[in-house]
Amino acid sequence: DHMGVYGYPRDNTPFETEAAENKDYTFFTHAYSSYTQTVQSLTYALTQKNQYNKIPLVDAYSIIDMARAAGFRTTWISNQSRFGIWDTPIGAIGSACDDQHWMNDYIGTGVQTKDYDSILVPQLQKVDPNNRRQLIVIHLMGSHVSYWDRYPHAGFYKYPLDQSKTRSKDQVMIDEYDNSVLYTDHVLSEIMNVAINHLHADEVMYFSDHGELVTQNPGHNADQFEFQMVHIPFWIYTSPEYQKKHPAEFAAMKRRKNWLFTNDMAYDTLMGSMGLTSVKYDPTCDFFSRKYDKDITNMMTMYGNIWLREDVKALGTNYKNQ
Ligand SMILES: [Zn+2]
Repeated sequence: DHMGVYGYPRDNTPFETEAAENKDYTFFTHAYSSYTQTVQSLTYALTQKNQYNKIPLVDAYSIIDMARAAGFRTTWISNQSRFGIWDTPIGAIGSACDDQHWMNDYIGTGVQTKDYDSILVPQLQKVDPNNRRQLIVIHLMGSHVSYWDRYPHAGFYKYPLDQSKTRSKDQVMIDEYDNSVLYTDHVLSEIMNVAINHLHADEVMYFSDHGELVTQNPGHNADQFEFQMVHIPFWIYTSPEYQKKHPAEFAAMKRRKNWLFTNDMAYDTLMGSMGLTSVKYDPTCDFFSRKYDKDITNMMTMYGNIWLREDVKALGTNYKNQ
């Protein structure tokens, strides 16, 4: 809801706005998170468990387990804490990777960073491009509170455009948040530069763990649920070589850009993209599979407690599944 590329009036995503015009990128317009908070959302996104199956979380394999079992080299690059209590289950998933770069050693209950997200880019540069079978996970700090700690003011303190005017507290929060989105857009441009020109990546998938209600008391607390807290960006880059090799998947991507998606299906969608479709894979949750069967009648958020169809205003008329 605060990204220029998705129709927000401020142009705070110059890189993504341009990328959206490029056929190698597909921007999905109706993506939701499965929960309003980091750990809950990511444990479902990165494992077999999702809102639509009955697999107990303790028995669910992670995308890292499956990629490694299939001979992929796995790398985890994170600017979120490995040991903070909010992040521990995610730390456990990342700790299974062959190579790990944890740039944030904060231990505690807060969400603190020493460094801005661009610190992750040199770590990506270290990955060997000659290995053609690998999975790299990059976990950004993004726009998590406190927004003003998430971006360097030099170059990214763009809003308010008129800095002489007095602003309400709500407007200050909105400006800070929008600046943090502008900075994330810049980090994404740096990541894509390395992914394309150094790694020659076949595919890059980007999504956020959840959204945010940007007000004076900002956040994404589950007990004050608003749909803005689960509206997320979701886009995919595929290389021209990959598109040639997987024409059906690429065509499905383009055809389904306005379909409904929840990010707990990232696991099966990635499994499909990596060609890992024989075990621990559910094609009905792979967004680009012919067997994908999720639509307005059965899709949910908040761990299956809220129907997406209740978000009528945001759905508008241009969403479509089937
Ligand atoms: Zn989060």
